[in-house]
Amino acid sequence: MNLILLGPPGAGKGTQAKRLEERFGIAQISTGDMLRAEVKSGSEIGLKAKAIMERGELVPDEVITAMLAARVSRPDCAKGFILDGFPRTAPQAEALDRMLAEKGLRLDHVIELKVDDGALVERIAGRFTCAQCGAGYHDTFKPTAKPGLCDSCGGTEFTRRADDKAETVAARLEAYHRQTAPLLPYYEAQGKLSGVDGMASMDEVARQIGAILSGKA
Ligand code: AMP
Repeated sequence: MNLILLGPPGAGKGTQAKRLEERFGIAQISTGDMLRAEVKSGSEIGLKAKAIMERGELVPDEVITAMLAARVSRPDCAKGFILDGFPRTAPQAEALDRMLAEKGLRLDHVIELKVDDGALVERIAGRFTCAQCGAGYHDTFKPTAKPGLCDSCGGTEFTRRADDKAETVAARLEAYHRQTAPLLPYYEAQGKLSGVDGMASMDEVARQIGAILSGKA
């Protein structure tokens, strides 16, 4: 099963992608996570991407599509994948269609997480991640059970993304509306698009996605 989760930053794509990964044994592919790893390692791609990401703009299509092509060829994608944060532009969507056709694969569903822009700044500004295991939290909506201690691994170091600052979030939302939202009619025309209420609780969003995947939505 091959899926795309579409939605603005802070819509909950990463959270839902992780749940789908656990439930179906298919790989979560987050181009944002891949780029952050490149930045951390100081690679050539990372050096190019760092400033662009800090401005809340999009990394060039050629860089991203080459990175994605290599990623979907890895063995953990054999049962399928969930794309989280890709495609973000029309050329990326077209490149993905070509890539899948060449591999004899199909895209099963594109799921839009619908959210109000107003809620996103608060959602994003409160995010933090365990530096040791990567578990995601939120100051208000999903704090750790014990302050300063990761629920999953007991880690005590946490990180916040450099681009989760309010000023950058505005630019990221602008990029979403201008460059990514036009993909919605593209996938609607392919008959692949379904929407879920991204303002609902994490469990309810997961339930709505489950219903779409099982054809009961
Ligand atoms: P994300 O973690 O998906 O919010 O991505 C963080 C940042 O990485 C974005 O603001 C972009 O600068 C960059 N990025 C991630 N995925 C893409 C993509 N598919 N195309 C272009 N830039 C991307």
